[in-house]
Amino acid sequence: MARLDTRQKLAILADAAKYDASCASSGTQKRDSSGGKGIGSTEGMGICHAYAPDGRCISLLKILLTNSCIFDCHYCINRKSSNVRRARFTPEEVVQLTLNFYRRNYIEGLFLSSGIIRSSNYTMEQLVEVARTLREVHDFRGYIHLKTIPDADEELVRQAGLYADRVSINVELPTERGLKELAPEKDEKRIEGAMTDMKSAIDDLKDARRKFKSAPKFAPAGQSTQMIVGADGADDGAIIMRASGLYDRFKLRRVYYSAFSPIPDASAVLPLSRPPLMREHRLYQSDWLMRFYGYTPSEVVAASDDGMLPLDIDPKLAWALKFRDRFPVDVNRAPREMLLRVPGLGTKAVKSILGARRFRQLRLDDIRRLTVSLKKLQPFIVAADWRPVALTDRADLRTLVKPRREQLELFAA
Ligand code: SF4
Repeated sequence: MARLDTRQKLAILADAAKYDASCASSGTQKRDSSGGKGIGSTEGMGICHAYAPDGRCISLLKILLTNSCIFDCHYCINRKSSNVRRARFTPEEVVQLTLNFYRRNYIEGLFLSSGIIRSSNYTMEQLVEVARTLREVHDFRGYIHLKTIPDADEELVRQAGLYADRVSINVELPTERGLKELAPEKDEKRIEGAMTDMKSAIDDLKDARRKFKSAPKFAPAGQSTQMIVGADGADDGAIIMRASGLYDRFKLRRVYYSAFSPIPDASAVLPLSRPPLMREHRLYQSDWLMRFYGYTPSEVVAASDDGMLPLDIDPKLAWALKFRDRFPVDVNRAPREMLLRVPGLGTKAVKSILGARRFRQLRLDDIRRLTVSLKKLQPFIVAADWRPVALTDRADLRTLVKPRREQLELFAA
C-alpha cells in the first residue's frame, strides 16, 4: 500500500463508508461536557449529516478504519477483488481525527466501520481500541456507532457495546439465498448468532442497571442493522417480513434499507441498474407503519401488488384503497387505532383529534389544520359537517387522491 497522508486516507475512507446508510444517531443517552468535564455531547439531533448526490443522508465523520478486505462480497466496492485504491488508518489516527473534528465543531460523533483485515478478531480489536481510547483516555462524550464484525469473539463484541452508543451488525441481504449468492463468505446463522449475543448483553446490562446503579451502560442506543435492497431478487414483501422478524427477535432499534448502488467493475451476478430510490423510501414508510401505526407485517404486505409496494402512492394510502370497507372513519368516534389508518393523519394529528374531541364535535375545518392534504384524507373520514357519500367507493379514487407530483412526504402519512 502506497504511503498516504491523513487527508488522502480520509478522502478514500470517508468515500468508502458512504454506502452504509445506517448512520442515524437517535435514541442514545444524554451526555454532555458541561462543567468542563470531558469533551463532546450527544445533545441535539446527534451527529452531523451531509447529503450524498443521490439525496441520501450521510454523517460527516463516517469512515472506515480500512477499505481493504479479505472477503469478496459481490455488491461491495471494497471487496478483495475490487481494484479500488486502498487505505488504512491506525486506531490512534481515527482517535485524533475524531477529536480534531469535534473541537472544530465539524462533527458530533463517530460512525466507524471497517473491511476485514487479517481476521475478524483482529479487525474488531482495532475498532474497539478506537472507542476505548476515545472514552477512557480522552473522556469523549460524543456519539459513537461501531459496526461490529459478526465472526468476532463474543467478548470483543461485548466490549464494543461498553464503549459505543450504538452497535450494528448488517444482515446485508433479505434472504439466506441472496446472502449465499452475493456474500458467499458470510453466513446468516453467524450473523444472527452475533445479533442474539448482542441482544442478550443489552438485556443483561439493562437488568443489572435496574438493580445496581454502578453497573456499566451498554450500547444505550441499542443495535441496528442494514439490508441492501434490489441487489438480489427479494421483493418488498420478503423484505418487510424479514425486517419484522428482526425487530421481534433481536429488539432492534432500526432496520435500515439501502438501495443497491451499482459499483465500478461490478460482478456479473449483480443487476446493471439500481432500483428506484423511491423503493427504499416506500420500505422506510412501511417500516414506520409497523412500528408506529399498529400495522402487522402481513397487513403492510397486503398493500403491495404481487409483493411490490406501489411507487406512486405511499403504503398507507395503498392499504386504505385496497380495504375501503374499513372506511370512512368517524373522527369524532373512532378509536385511535382506526384514526391511525386514515391516509393523511399522522400520530401527532391523531393525538390532537383525540384531545380536541373530548370538548367538541370536530368539523372538516378542524381536520384541515392537522393535515398537509385534505384531498387525500376526505374520502376516508366522517366529520360533524362532512360525509364522503359515494366518494369512498369511486372506481377512480386512486387517481383522485394520489399526489400529482411525487414528493418525498416522509410521514405526512
Ligand atoms: S466483508 Fe464488508 S467490507 Fe468486506 S467485502 Fe464484505 S461487505 Fe465489503
